[in-house]
Amino acid sequence: MTCYQDLADRVLGGTSPTRKEALDILATPQGQLLDLVNAAYTIRSRYFGNTVRLQMLLNAKSGACQEDCHYCSQSTISDAPIDRYALLSPEKMMEGARRAAEAKAQRYCIVISGRSPLQSEITQISSAVRKIKDEIPIQICCSLGLLNGEQASQLKAAGVDRINHNLNTSEAFHPSICSTHTYQDRLDTLKHARAAGLELCSGGIVGMGERDEDLVDLALALKEVQPDSIPLNMLYPVDGTPFGEKNDLTPARCLTILCLFRFLHPQTEIRAAGGREKNLRSLQPLALYVADSLFVDGYLTTPGLAHQEVWNMIEDMGFTVEVRLPRHRKSPSRNLLSLIIFRLIFFLFPLLSVEGVRSFCSGKRTQNFGTLHASLRERLSQIEAA
Ligand code: SF4
Repeated sequence: MTCYQDLADRVLGGTSPTRKEALDILATPQGQLLDLVNAAYTIRSRYFGNTVRLQMLLNAKSGACQEDCHYCSQSTISDAPIDRYALLSPEKMMEGARRAAEAKAQRYCIVISGRSPLQSEITQISSAVRKIKDEIPIQICCSLGLLNGEQASQLKAAGVDRINHNLNTSEAFHPSICSTHTYQDRLDTLKHARAAGLELCSGGIVGMGERDEDLVDLALALKEVQPDSIPLNMLYPVDGTPFGEKNDLTPARCLTILCLFRFLHPQTEIRAAGGREKNLRSLQPLALYVADSLFVDGYLTTPGLAHQEVWNMIEDMGFTVEVRLPRHRKSPSRNLLSLIIFRLIFFLFPLLSVEGVRSFCSGKRTQNFGTLHASLRERLSQIEAA
């Protein structure tokens, strides 16, 4: 393939690349890499302009996981010298949210190690999310492992906006990276989260020994999932993990893979995620021409650029941090409480004043009573709309 711009124009016209074209993108020679990036940029700029969304991670529970994900320093088969701690308190989670807002992150991602969360962990995280939502205008994503429908519904009720659960790789390659849960388990979690009304964040990890066919399979599988955002992690080989010696990625390869996902997911938020700094190295700024989303201030157990350095890179490249934050919303439970209180006042109001009692009994309302009642009705509508 030589004319990447023709392909980008077809994507902008609504035609997705064929499987063969997707594989051709991955075979782009280094000499044509900038042509490919430029074509991907025409897609990125159509839907996202030159804006960049920032996110910050909190490793809210670290290590001691019983799963055997080969890429993960927190797994049961990892000897990596990482911090190990139980679930952080809601206060610590709140502190992290304040730091995220100060770093201009639109989204704060609460992550815990483990196959799936305990009920006590769901309760504690829900409590933290309610407090954060009451104080800070920031979107919240949770990455808590496998979820069932009830757990997803509880998180939604607490005010969680989005669930992260990566497909990670192709269905065919999945057994090569993990044996303790299946690809179908991952799909089921995404299905439960979607059914609960949560947004989905789902992507993958590249550089684990997968073939080009696996990358295309992953990109196509994500077209079925239709996530709201796709994080593309570039393997950060950690000593002490089964993948600690892997060294398959080059900066050009990482950029090419990002382009593949931009061509196949033109309107989806694509994040150059974990391992970005290590694997893209000096080409890191070029990722902004393809991806529209970045993490700041590091990852779960590996380091990354501090937010000030990320801001500088974005500005130097002529992009801007999107600081538009969601309208401040109280957590659903707080709204429910307000609603109940106002409904009680609304219906009991006639009984609270002598004049009201007379009016109530006689069926006539005085003008004052009518005005106050109308204002209560208006406030009630506002709460219901919020
Ligand atoms: S389930 Fe999560 S924490 Fe556990 S090994 Fe896999 S990626 Fe790591």
